[in-house]
Amino acid sequence: MDRRNFFKLVGTASGGALTGACGKQAQELIPLLVPATEIVPGAEEWHPSVCSSCAAGCGTIVRVMQAERKIEVEGETVRQPIAAIKKIEGNPLDPVSGGRLCARGQAAVQGLYHPDRLTGPRRRAGARGSGDFELVDWETALSEVAAVLAGVDRRRIVYLTSAGMGTGSATAARFLDSIGAPPATTIGVNDFTVERRASQLAFGWDGLPVYEIQDATYVLSIGADFLGGWASPVFYSRRFGHMRRGRPGIRGKLVHAESRFSQTAWSADRWLPVAPGGEHALAMAIGHVIVSDKLRESDQAGESLRQAFVATDFSAACKASGLEEKRIRDVARELASSMSPLVLAGASIVRPGSSRAVTAANELNLLLGNIGAKGGVMPPASLPGGLTAERPAYRPLEEQIGKAEVVMIDGVNPLYAAPWLAGSLAKVELVISFAGFLDDSAAHADWILPDHHELEASAGVIPLMSPTPALTGAPAFVKPLHETRATPDVLVDLARRLDAAIEPVTLDSAYASLHGQGTDEESTPADFIDQARRQGGWWERERPADAHRTRTEPLGDWDPPVSDPAYPFAFQPYPTLQFGFGGESHLPWLQQLPDPASSAVWNLPVEVDPATAEQLDVRNGDTLRVISPSGELEAPVYVNPAAIPGVVSMPIGQGHGTFGRYASGQGANPLSIVDPVPEQETGVPAFGATRVRLEKGTTKQRLVQYAAVDRQPHPHR
Ligand code: SF4
Repeated sequence: MDRRNFFKLVGTASGGALTGACGKQAQELIPLLVPATEIVPGAEEWHPSVCSSCAAGCGTIVRVMQAERKIEVEGETVRQPIAAIKKIEGNPLDPVSGGRLCARGQAAVQGLYHPDRLTGPRRRAGARGSGDFELVDWETALSEVAAVLAGVDRRRIVYLTSAGMGTGSATAARFLDSIGAPPATTIGVNDFTVERRASQLAFGWDGLPVYEIQDATYVLSIGADFLGGWASPVFYSRRFGHMRRGRPGIRGKLVHAESRFSQTAWSADRWLPVAPGGEHALAMAIGHVIVSDKLRESDQAGESLRQAFVATDFSAACKASGLEEKRIRDVARELASSMSPLVLAGASIVRPGSSRAVTAANELNLLLGNIGAKGGVMPPASLPGGLTAERPAYRPLEEQIGKAEVVMIDGVNPLYAAPWLAGSLAKVELVISFAGFLDDSAAHADWILPDHHELEASAGVIPLMSPTPALTGAPAFVKPLHETRATPDVLVDLARRLDAAIEPVTLDSAYASLHGQGTDEESTPADFIDQARRQGGWWERERPADAHRTRTEPLGDWDPPVSDPAYPFAFQPYPTLQFGFGGESHLPWLQQLPDPASSAVWNLPVEVDPATAEQLDVRNGDTLRVISPSGELEAPVYVNPAAIPGVVSMPIGQGHGTFGRYASGQGANPLSIVDPVPEQETGVPAFGATRVRLEKGTTKQRLVQYAAVDRQPHPHR
């Protein structure tokens, strides 16, 4: 479908005719999904929107149909017409989703109609964490919160948010600046701080590199489960599909190095089961072979960089990586001799030396000379205009929260994803949450000022990575179901009450700031905004220039292998395709989606190798106690034939204390037992540095697995 035809398709649907369909008096909940029998036959409409379930920012289109629901009015049951959202798909015009979506994007509709959504602002009525709140009206909530904010030292306000950028983060930045508070900070988990730092170190770029795998002939990926839970899975899955099957006669080869048999590993031609923390040594060993054996000419790598690879002790690097020398030499030769070679680097599991490891892997691309080349590495596509002026960045949190008088929590759930912050958060005088559900962190707040669902709000999102500069937009097209309010509107209101009036950054104002910035056809500002609204975003057609610099500082050492007889196993909590870092566990569709590794549903197991299972005398479905210096958990075991001996992995997503009826009290949270040592370059919590010991469990837990083969004592044997 081309742009023009697509405009026609959504043209009549963007006028907001549906916004009046759901009255505020309707407090009864629509069934979780409106069944087909309640759909009134008639025309469907498709509206552009954007998925906010992860930072990737996939553009979507949303199918809306007229439907009915039964409500009680003065004791009588009446049928009320509503606009029912039936389906979400990828927006075919969007350069990130390209018309595709992952399971989380598809399931977002369940969040809209979820029976546990917060229906209005709440004030804490019981002890923190008890979940005991009273419903209040917005005027009461905003006036009381503003009164407290007026009396605090504004420099001691901490605003916790995600790494996502767009109109919401820009309005929050204005709010904080106007009241004299410090800029927003991320929680250091799932914020790609490591990858950003590595991009700066390797290329001098401010943002994540874009890997052109679709045009590569050989891809070596190190540390990033790019087809699973890392970064932008839809974007890279599409590109991977093209690399494999999109070019007649050319099938690109994928070699994947990771300490877990992840989704990317099992899609690869060859998996390199690197030791946990061995990624840096692996990159150095490969670079050593390329330079020492003169396998590839490149004028992109400076002499000091080449010398750093030459000086690497190859045998020691192979040993630290946990891989045989021959295997590494073979991969280095194949990579360097391929027509369009590429190294994709990231840290699905952050360890103490992850920034240096990702940097070293990125720098292999300089040796290969592929920066700016077809099938190589492209610089981040930064958006013109002022929207990116204040990107939320990580700042050491324990210290900040320790001194804070007020913590505001927007779009993150720190007591789940970073539970080590619980102690310091408990001492904060005032905690305000903008969550739409009573999640683990909202339960510890004093006030909850619930945000709209993403399908009810208007927002512009800058994708985490995009081939060209992009602002993906979601104009509001259904009236909010409940008495929720868009967080940017709440911030504007609070600023006004604090005598610090600000203008919100709206989707239209963001589009207006982009008019005349790109190479798109000439149009008036009004036409430009109208076109962007209809197509679901503004996407520049041209790539940014590929200017880069080569680093001259030494590459630094890799982390030495760790051994601790008291805690003999490396512990790897990892983000999953279905839950990410646990943000979507409240959606039953995702709870029912078989886990890609174990095929488990409604609970997630701890994965151990067959030899360890035999030693501990456990089989699939038995329970294991996983004990770290910081805590312990008990979970069902999955004997994973591809698990590396000495390495225990566990998917993130279960173990929420409070997160609606489908996730609360379900399973265990692997992040609850990690030792959050700081990552060496950035200070973010290196949650992959934890060591554990294992004991046979004592509780009975059900492990329901979808695939019969996974239920066998020794699956896949
Ligand atoms: S990758 Fe999936 S969860 Fe992330 S924005 Fe795209 S559809 Fe949503």
